[in-house]
Amino acid sequence: MEGARVASPNETGADGGRARLWPEPYRAAFAICSDADDSTWERFDLVQRLLRTREPTPFGPGLGWEGFADTFFGFTRYPAARTLGQVSVFADEEARVLSPHAGEIAAAIRRGAVDGLHGWGDCIAVGGFRRGHAEAILAWMRREGLAAPVWVNHGDRHNVQNLGAVMGRGDDPARAEVYNADLVRQAGCRWHWLGDLSRVPGQGVDHPLGERLTPISPVTPAGRRRGLALALARLYEMTGASPFLKGVHRLGWQFERRTPLLTRARLRDGSEVWVFTRYGAWDAADFATLPAVVNDDTLAALVRSGGAMILYTHLGRRPPTEAGVAALRQVDKLFREGALWVTGVPALLARYAHAKGFT
Ligand SMILES: [Zn+2]
Repeated sequence: MEGARVASPNETGADGGRARLWPEPYRAAFAICSDADDSTWERFDLVQRLLRTREPTPFGPGLGWEGFADTFFGFTRYPAARTLGQVSVFADEEARVLSPHAGEIAAAIRRGAVDGLHGWGDCIAVGGFRRGHAEAILAWMRREGLAAPVWVNHGDRHNVQNLGAVMGRGDDPARAEVYNADLVRQAGCRWHWLGDLSRVPGQGVDHPLGERLTPISPVTPAGRRRGLALALARLYEMTGASPFLKGVHRLGWQFERRTPLLTRARLRDGSEVWVFTRYGAWDAADFATLPAVVNDDTLAALVRSGGAMILYTHLGRRPPTEAGVAALRQVDKLFREGALWVTGVPALLARYAHAKGFT
């Protein structure tokens, strides 16, 4: 599926009889998938008002994107985040005592303002995750009648809760003390992000080779020797030989052979899940660096591509910035003009899966 070649349905949709990828009149789609790291309650609340409502904020009136939803932590063990006051459902490190914000988080999930588990909890630097933590959070979700359709793998190598071969052991039934993939299912998760990050504006559609060659960092762009990087990328595309790709990387460029939005993956417990790709850059993933990944150029490329952009970011990591909010207002302008569908992650992925006949 991932390797299947597909024409952009928006190129063929109107006249070729294929299903449109996105609702009329939109030509491409945009959603934000924001990790909850370092988000205090005050910043969480400000991001909600700024993105979901039209209320006045220090950055002007909110955008009113009803589709926007945040992610949440069940508990926090990472000491730096605890010191900071990172918001989670449970106040303690063992997921036993509800935090003062548990009720507000439940209400936010219930009204669709939060839709994703950012892992069960934050175990950066110290680890210590156990299946019992996930059971406690799931029991709370059941008591409150909540579901979280989005799962986002989290953090560093200490997060053994993660699913997938690269990070974590959460889907390995042989590791019973940390196995939790069954509980992720029971929490209502349908769409999983396991670490795939693309630098190409527009996932889920094909791109010519040149568009799939991007600077590794948008903050300190490579910008040089693009011709050589392009030649190496072409050789890699033809042969699949990794030394060519390494050569591309050494020149400061990234090359993506494919740009899928949604693929099917088999976990170690034999279950199959939907895995989505986020767009962005590891070093441009908060409000301050938002303009490096969302700007006139990348938004024009996205609309041209007819694909989707699910933005990887951490909107609650630091206070919003004027420039970051301005970047979101550029997105909003395209939304209002009918070019870009701004929605939530589950709605975007469900629409795409349906249009492609995946479900
Ligand atoms: Zn994170």
